[in-house]
Parts: sequence; C-alpha cells; structure tokens
Amino acid sequence: MQYYECIIIGGGLGGLTLAIQLAKKGYQVALLEKERYPYHKVCGEYIAMESWNYLESCGIPLTELNLPRLQKLTVSAPNGNYIKHQLNPGGFGISRYKLDFLLANEAKKNGVVLLENCKVQNITNQTPTIYEVQTDQGNFTTQTVIGSYGKRSNLDVKLNRDFIKNKAKGLDNYIGIKYHVKANIPEDAIELHNFENGYCGISKIEDDRYCMCYLTTAQNLKQYQGNIKLMEENILYKNIFLKKYFTQFESFYEEPLAISQVNFSNKTQNENGIIMLGDAAGLITPLCGNGMSMAMHASKILSNLLPYYFENETNKNQLLEKYTESWQKQFGTRLWVGRKIQQMFGNPILTNLLITALKPMPFAVSKLVSLTHGKSY
Ligand SMILES: Cc1cc2nc3c(=O)[nH]c(=O)nc-3n(C[C@H](O)[C@H](O)[C@H](O)COP(=O)(O)OP(=O)(O)OC[C@H]3O[C@@H](n4cnc5c(N)ncnc54)[C@H](O)[C@@H]3O)c2cc1C
Repeated sequence: MQYYECIIIGGGLGGLTLAIQLAKKGYQVALLEKERYPYHKVCGEYIAMESWNYLESCGIPLTELNLPRLQKLTVSAPNGNYIKHQLNPGGFGISRYKLDFLLANEAKKNGVVLLENCKVQNITNQTPTIYEVQTDQGNFTTQTVIGSYGKRSNLDVKLNRDFIKNKAKGLDNYIGIKYHVKANIPEDAIELHNFENGYCGISKIEDDRYCMCYLTTAQNLKQYQGNIKLMEENILYKNIFLKKYFTQFESFYEEPLAISQVNFSNKTQNENGIIMLGDAAGLITPLCGNGMSMAMHASKILSNLLPYYFENETNKNQLLEKYTESWQKQFGTRLWVGRKIQQMFGNPILTNLLITALKPMPFAVSKLVSLTHGKSY
C-alpha cells in the first residue's frame, strides 16, 4: 500500500493551496479529489483582497490575469430599498472553474501526487497513529490526514460528525443555485439582493461573464415542488433588481448548478485526529463573501504548523491543539457575525429596516464588513 507523509482529501481552495505550500517545502503530499478539473462549483466567486498575496505565493499570477476588482457594494431589500457602499479594499472576481484548475496545475508542477476522479470512501486507523485512506483507486496509508472535502460529504457520515447527526432544519437547511450570465452591471460592482429567506449575489468574473449565485432555504424550494424556475418567479422576482436580472440576463448554462443540504452549524477542527480544513472545519454564511479566504488562510496556518510535526518537533496532540486554537482565534468571531447578519437578512421587514437605518451611517456598514473580513495574511 502506498505511504504518503500527508494525504489531503478534497481539492478545493483549502486542499489545493495547502498541498502546494507543503510540496514547496519538500514534503511528500497526495491530494485526492473526486472530480476531474476543470469543473464548475456553486460559489459567488467574489474573493476578498486579503487572499491576493497568498494566492500569488501559490503560483497564481493574479496581476497578469487582469481580473475585475470589485469595490462598489449595493445591497437591496426585497421591496427594492437599497444602499450603496464603497468597499475598501473589496475583492476580485474569478470563476472556480478557472481558479481551481490553475491551482491544480500548479500543485502538479510542484510535485503533488494529484489523483482526480478519486473519491475517498472511508478513513480507518491501522494503528493509533497510522491511517488507511480507502478510495475508488485503491488504499493509501499516512500519519497525517487533512479533511478539506467541503461543506458536506460522504465522509462526514462515515465519521459520524455531530452536525450530521442532528437533522437539519430551518436556518440550517439551505440550497445554493448558480448561473454564469452575460450582464450589464458595472464591472467593479458586487451586488447583494435580498428576497424572502434568501439573497442573491452578482459580480463580474473573467471573460465578460458575471456570476449570479443565490442561497435560500430548502423550504422555499419545497413550496414549489422542487421547481427552481417557479420559485424564482414567485419569490425572487418580488425584488425588482432580481426580476430584471433574471428576465434580461442571458445564462451560459442550460440549467443552473445546484447544491442542497447547506448547513451552518458549528463543526470541529479535529475529528479523531483528522485535521479539518476549509468548509469541513466551519462554514461561514456566503453573504460575508469570504469562505474562500477563510479556507486559504487556514491552509496557510496549517502549512506553518505541519512542518514542526513532520520534523518531530511537536507531537500530534500539540499540533491539534495549536491548530484548533489558531483557527478559533482567527475565524470564531467572523462565523458568529455572519450567522447573525444572515438571520436579519432572511426577513423582508427586518432587511428593509436595517437598510434604512444603515443608509446615513456608512461607518457602521464599514464596521459590519470589517467584522466579517480579515487582514492580508
Ligand atoms: C451559495 C454560496 C455562495 C458562496 N459565495 C462565496 C463567495 O462569493 N466568496 C467566498 O469567498 N466564498 C463563497 N462561498 C463559500 C466558498 O464556496 C467555500 O467557503 C469554499 O469553497 C471552501 O473551500 P474548501 O476547499 O473548503 O471546499 P470546496 O471548494 O467545496 O472543495 C471541496 C472538495 O472536496 C471534494 N470532495 C468532497 N468529498 C470528497 C471525497 N469523499 N473524496 C474526494 N474528494 C472529495 C469536492 O469535490 C471538492 O472539490 C459560497 C458558498 C455558497 C454555498
């Protein structure tokens, strides 16, 4: 059975950037991804500027890619009442199709063993310190498993994680829908339009495309027997911005991309010694626009801690403790604030009141934005 110093499960932004950083430091890393690159993902595709330097350090030439800078925020309530705000520093737009593909190529270039179409089915202990990772392409062993497999996966069920055991309901059962469209909103805008029990973001990515992506409760879709179009016409279209955008903007997809069972419950960063990274460690509400940055920032934290463990300068317990502590310190408040803002935005009356109250107070909007974002890392 093939042995690797470190096995990373899931090649999204958390897994890919960690694999690149560890390989650059000379460690032997295998990254197992169930899909084949490039592929589309449900995501708003707005990346906060805090991640610019880290992505460049992973080999992505962001400056050369000539990507749209997103600095003008518009937020509307379901009744059309809206507020505009200058984001400083804001973010930039790039599709996951492109970014994950570029990172995957960079990982291979740096010597990462990247297995695509390789779904991990289970992780078991061979000895207290050695794990066996069972996949569609055979089994592997390692001392260090990183779980960077996203919001929800077959492995959460196998590991019997707490958030899976509690049946998702109400605020913890969301769906995400995404389109790439041809649009005519300003290139530097990021717009967030609310509707009953949900919100839809739109902003530019590469190649004259815009990403239009929304999150709403599973209950909203259930009311319309799972018919996305009918739900959009009856719920989203009540917001005049969304009615205009959904009826006028041409989609590049035949059908939207959709995901279900999105759950914002608390998670642990260590599950039986498996180190959780990105959404597998904790998922921030998308309206904060920085889940991707959190995943990559946590990968930087880990890439600095793991070498001490690989070189036997710390033991596993010390590694896990240090990582959990750093993770909570860095992201705990952001997650909490994101959840609170999401609860307010679900309700049409509250959203309207909030927007009216915030209009004359740009400093308060800046404060809210800064509470959900971090500094460059
Ligand atoms: C509707 C919506 C909009 C969002 N908009 C934004 C936004 O605008 N900006 C932002 O910063 N964040 C946004 N986010 C959050 C962002 O998408 C995530 O935080 C980010 O993708 C997390 O990266 P990750 O590496 O943890 O997981 P992912 O990118 O989800 O990667 C996980 C990978 O694991 C693989 N995988 C899963 N199970 C297995 C298995 N068993 N074996 C092998 N591979 C497996 C998957 O195929 C996937 O490639 C949004 C989220 C949602 C739901």
